[in-house]
Amino acid sequence: MYIGNHLSSSKGFEHMGKEALKLGANTFAFFTRNPRGGAAKEISEDDANKLRALMEEHHFGKLVAHAPYTMNVCAEKESVLNFSRGVLADDLARMEYLPHNYYNFHPGSHVGQGAEKGIELIADALNAALKPEYQTIVLLETMAGKGSEVGKSFEELKAILDRIELSDKVGVCLDTCHVWDAGYDIVHDLDGVLQNFDEIIGLDRLCAVHFNDSMNDCGAHKDRHQKIGEGKIGADALLAVAYHPLLAGRPFILETPNDDEGYAREIAMVRNAEPLAK
Ligand SMILES: [Zn+2]
Repeated sequence: MYIGNHLSSSKGFEHMGKEALKLGANTFAFFTRNPRGGAAKEISEDDANKLRALMEEHHFGKLVAHAPYTMNVCAEKESVLNFSRGVLADDLARMEYLPHNYYNFHPGSHVGQGAEKGIELIADALNAALKPEYQTIVLLETMAGKGSEVGKSFEELKAILDRIELSDKVGVCLDTCHVWDAGYDIVHDLDGVLQNFDEIIGLDRLCAVHFNDSMNDCGAHKDRHQKIGEGKIGADALLAVAYHPLLAGRPFILETPNDDEGYAREIAMVRNAEPLAK
């Protein structure tokens, strides 16, 4: 299986690949720029190529890059919209240095404009940024439904996907904490949730998983991640997700509150659970 965590990109691409190997990972996530800011570092093509070689040598799964939290392509304010559209376009151009990976983003918060309007704006931003020659798949993340977040239901995500002209360049990243917080009971009815996803969106479009426990109850709409096995979802239910045959082959990214040692432990725990998960 492909599992890893979020790594800091401050020392470059190849450094992240080496860090991932140290943690026992064979995929990872990274912020394309400061998650709370805007400026992006200059990309070194040589550094990107070194990471590509390392990934090939060590049989990595696809990477799951993450857009900054400050990007909201369905904001109401013109200045935020313009900034966000610029970040999206720039990030997708930069992802071409690491072709055939994923770029995940939070669809956004409609801040009182209504989900319908939010869905329209998100689709408009994607249609403006995507290019036929791009080799990245852009992933919409499932959201907890905190505040005015768009993407709290499979129906909302489907409504965005349906409006994308280059539809083979978009997919979904399922965040276990977020879907649980949004009201999808993956503890008692994982098969039912996946079936629901398949009927509405199609499991072929579920490309990656953000693998987190939750501090809150199902349907709480809170979005507070917890370490695997220390939250309300629990280790058994999460391992059932990790080893569900319908999700085989996807990269699983930990976004749990951990240090390196904690991530290495969680990665080993999930890997070693394979024979137990039936
Ligand atoms: Zn996530």
